[in-house]
Amino acid sequence: MSDKLNLTDAEWRERLTPEQYHVLREAGTERAFTGALDTNKAAGEYRCAACGELLFESDDKYNSGSGWPSFVAPASGAAVEEERDVSAGMIRTEAKCARCESHLGHIFPDGPGPEGLRYCINSAALNFVPEDAADEG
Ligand SMILES: [Zn+2]
Repeated sequence: MSDKLNLTDAEWRERLTPEQYHVLREAGTERAFTGALDTNKAAGEYRCAACGELLFESDDKYNSGSGWPSFVAPASGAAVEEERDVSAGMIRTEAKCARCESHLGHIFPDGPGPEGLRYCINSAALNFVPEDAADEG
């Protein structure tokens, strides 16, 4: 993993769109079925929209029908941090970027993979890099 990234609130606001800022820095949730990457099936990498860290890979993405990009596992165990979240009257596990501590989404125990996990991630928290572009560097 790359070095930690710590920016001031003003720097984050400058770097991110208002929607990205709301999701990543205010732990917001985009409306289901509105994210650009929800139905994306192309091969490639999903990177943190805030800091560029590799978070998920297309091989681990599946259609959960939830309306948000869903993955069975992160690209590496160190890429995504888990935190207990008791907001909104629920006990959930929050998924955060390990590098910049931005909010990504939540982790639910109803995934189809061997780990049984579903990483339910806001499209606004991700930048998709198609495989062809990633190969070039
Ligand atoms: Zn990040």
